[in-house]
Amino acid sequence: MANQGIVTPTNIDIQHDVVSIQWNDGHTSDYPHRYLRLECHCATCVGEWPNKGDLDPETIPLDVYAMEHQTIGRYAVQFLWSDGHYTGLYPYDVLRKACPCPECTAAKK
Ligand SMILES: [Zn+2]
Ligand SMILES: [Zn+2]
Repeated sequence: MANQGIVTPTNIDIQHDVVSIQWNDGHTSDYPHRYLRLECHCATCVGEWPNKGDLDPETIPLDVYAMEHQTIGRYAVQFLWSDGHYTGLYPYDVLRKACPCPECTAAKK
């Protein structure tokens, strides 16, 4: 079902080890919690332009995990993290590009 529109999640499941997202094109992405936390690009994490930098992994607890999620409109999902962070939005296209599965990782090269 690969249409030209944006891929959107059909199911978001917070599991013990991973946040598992099923997409409407049939793909499933399993994101380790901390990996996903480090993908946050909100102003709190990476700063505001022009002082934008990378999120410093040292500031994120090793055992951070997603406690809850909610979808924002039709384009993004927001997580409540165990470190108290919740302002980061993950647009679906960014999330999908961050999919750590071998197939997607290979496609990026
Ligand atoms: Zn953030
Ligand atoms: Zn993938």
